[in-house]
Amino acid sequence: MLKEGKVEFDDDDVFYNDRMVMNRDVTVAVAEAWSEGGAETYVDGMSASGIRGMRIAKETGLEPVLNDRSENAVEKIRENLELNDLDSSVERSDANVLFHRERFDVVDVDPFGSPIPFADSAFQATRSLACFTATDTAPLCGAHDSSLRRYFSRPLNTTYHPEMGLRTLVGSLARTAARYDIAVEPVLSHASDHYHRTYLKVESGAKKSDATLENLGSVRHCRNCGYRDSSEDLYASNIECPNCGEETDTAGPLWLAELRDREFTAEVRSNLREYMDTYRRAWKMLNHLEGELDTPTHYDHHMICRRAGTNPTKLQDFLEQLRKKGYNASKTHYSGTSFKTNADITDLTEIVLE
Ligand code: SAH
Repeated sequence: MLKEGKVEFDDDDVFYNDRMVMNRDVTVAVAEAWSEGGAETYVDGMSASGIRGMRIAKETGLEPVLNDRSENAVEKIRENLELNDLDSSVERSDANVLFHRERFDVVDVDPFGSPIPFADSAFQATRSLACFTATDTAPLCGAHDSSLRRYFSRPLNTTYHPEMGLRTLVGSLARTAARYDIAVEPVLSHASDHYHRTYLKVESGAKKSDATLENLGSVRHCRNCGYRDSSEDLYASNIECPNCGEETDTAGPLWLAELRDREFTAEVRSNLREYMDTYRRAWKMLNHLEGELDTPTHYDHHMICRRAGTNPTKLQDFLEQLRKKGYNASKTHYSGTSFKTNADITDLTEIVLE
């Protein structure tokens, strides 16, 4: 018997990933915030053991529907519900069929691999919040040539690849929603372990979706020196790097605007509970996320020092040094050595050498 959050369950013959516990702890905290805002219904389109939906039932004010197309999974879900004295609705349907048949306040798409095969229908089914997990990080981060096919985007594999992946995912989902005159606003997004996760507030309206698409653009990156900038042009061209003169590469289209709402992130953090298995880790992640500057890329402190031929100091001290010089600087949730700043690569190289 396994235990996660306030739920006991069995995972024989169904998929259960214990590396996704933080994903689900944060989902519970988001769902609770959404329920406090008036939402009532939730669906896990692909439930496997049912763990996600059962936690929603036990730990939040939302009423879940647990769906899976596999007979085996549905049987296991029923057993697990009974074990927890829960009477949530169970569906056995292809998620795309269910999403076209019924609407829910919160729709969760947490599949194997890419959520894109479910994105069109998920937006039809969503009243206010659509949540997506992507575990296909290789194409999202530019390490695989299926990015164009799956996301119609060309990401680049850089030192900030987790952010590139998240922005590629959100950009692609925003374009999918826009086709149905649906506008999205990412209220929370994170790249952790081997997955990307985003929570999109959705609203209908042609004008609003036009405005959403203005948040897309391109990032130019110089492989030679690490220079980068962004352009509102969806398909920007390479330029001569203003720092070193080499030709840049260009990534996009991707989401350039905020990946989270600061206030909402703080609210979600305050909804984490100490009984949750990843309480501390999730709290820290959300705290970093909340404090992140809104630049579309980040830097790796160690990489900059290595390129400059010097040893890194403590990241916190380096960020203080940047702030004293009048730059903005923040840690990020992407990794312990990553940071965001409005200083450019030339400034950074000079400062690490001081
Ligand atoms: N959300 C779960 C993990 C899902 S694993 C969690 O938090 O633990 C993926 C599940 O998707 C499997 O159980 C598989 O049966 C189901 N699945 C795959 N394709 C599907 C489809 N088209 N519709 C519904 N379920 C599907």
